[in-house]
Amino acid sequence: MLEVGHSASADLYQSGCGVRQDFSDILALAIEGSGTGVWDRDVVTGAIRYCDGWVGLLGYRREEISDRIEDAYARVHPDDLAYVQATMRDHFAGLTPSYEVEHRLRCRDGSYKWVLSRGRVISRDGDGRALRMVGTTTDITAMRVLAERLRASMALLSSLTDQVPGLVFQCRRAPDGTACVPYASARITEIYELTPQQVAESSQPVHARIHPDDLDLYRATLAEAAERLTPWQCVFRVLLPRQGLRWRQVDARATRLPDGGTLWHGLVVDVTERKRVEQELHDLARVDHLTCLPNRRAFTERMERAWHALVRGRAGDVAVLMLDIDHFKSINDRHGHTAGDAVLRRVAATMLAELRPGDHAGRLGGEEFAVVLPDTGLAQARQVAERLRRALAECRIPVADGTMRLTVSIGLSDMRATDCRYDDALARADMALYAAKEAGRNRTGVSGEPVG
Ligand code: GH3
Ligand code: MG
Ligand code: MG
Repeated sequence: MLEVGHSASADLYQSGCGVRQDFSDILALAIEGSGTGVWDRDVVTGAIRYCDGWVGLLGYRREEISDRIEDAYARVHPDDLAYVQATMRDHFAGLTPSYEVEHRLRCRDGSYKWVLSRGRVISRDGDGRALRMVGTTTDITAMRVLAERLRASMALLSSLTDQVPGLVFQCRRAPDGTACVPYASARITEIYELTPQQVAESSQPVHARIHPDDLDLYRATLAEAAERLTPWQCVFRVLLPRQGLRWRQVDARATRLPDGGTLWHGLVVDVTERKRVEQELHDLARVDHLTCLPNRRAFTERMERAWHALVRGRAGDVAVLMLDIDHFKSINDRHGHTAGDAVLRRVAATMLAELRPGDHAGRLGGEEFAVVLPDTGLAQARQVAERLRRALAECRIPVADGTMRLTVSIGLSDMRATDCRYDDALARADMALYAAKEAGRNRTGVSGEPVG
């Protein structure tokens, strides 16, 4: 019979030489010190021997441990027994090169310890039947506790990041520019309509979702932030299979990796609603609420664009028209402010009806309107102005006691490439308008010409 422990290791190795004996002793001590016990099983008789270290591992005294395999199995946690025995059977049958299984063993005080059992059949009969097996049992309780703590903190991290209203991510960029996303929270399915697995190896699927017109901006802002290690923020559009066109904003920070790459941690959120409201506010800030024409700001921008095109030789003739309602103050005075507003709306509607789609009309303020007429010389602009003036003079606007009429005065000028400012033509049109008023109103004045 084997005597396991100090001398058991000697027995196990059947040492005959002194040096070998010393080594075996040291080996046995080292194994014991590492929280590992050694066992030796006679498969045929069902006898099993344990070294002292094994016995101590579970807090037993040697006399409390029998040499029967049945008793050994009785110490295995009932939930683990079937799996342990199946693993053992597979190894006996030669299906596995070694036996290795994690399971629980009952200690002397009734508690269970997690152990790793490993072993190998070291002799078989002529038919391959297992005769003898040796192995080790290692206490892995501390490791299991650590693993459980790790799993719990991972679960906490995941549930926290999954609650954040956006995609929490970690992205690793190699010096050659290739990138992967080792961590992506569950919301990646909403933000990019992708799964964490799809981006784990490469961030390419994300790039494929970004609107082609925004990809350069996305890459340029990322490269700049990566180079300077400054916070990265970018607002961009994505094209998603299910949601279609949406707006996203990424905020992230980077640290430099030893290989020169960067490690990003950040958040991508849905800003579609915010962009919609911004656009609405932007549009509202450029529209005159009473007439729904572009307001002075929007009209001025339009005029500035037309002037730049002219200066760069990318436009034909451009005319500027200014229109002012005659005696509007007395319309207000006689028929009331509401009627005055109706007149302003009617003037705007008539202008839109009389102008071409490419002309840009706007309300400058009060009862003053203006139009930029692209591809229009002064002679042609005069025809437009006269047509408009007559159309307005024919309007009959309902008021409390019947209908009322109105007239307008108009000033015209051509836009010139030699002008110093984009609004020089408007100033000339204003002077022509003043001349038309001076000449008796309800007429068109052309800059540089006497009013007829
Ligand atoms: P002129 O023929 O010389 O242009 O005289 P006018 O009375 O049309 O010009 P004036 O500048 O003296 O008066 C313009 C008036 O327009 C004064 C102002 O109360 C009125 N007005 C400005 N904005 C609005 C508006 O939004 N609604 C209404 N109803 N009246 C307005
Ligand atoms: Mg006026
Ligand atoms: Mg007026």
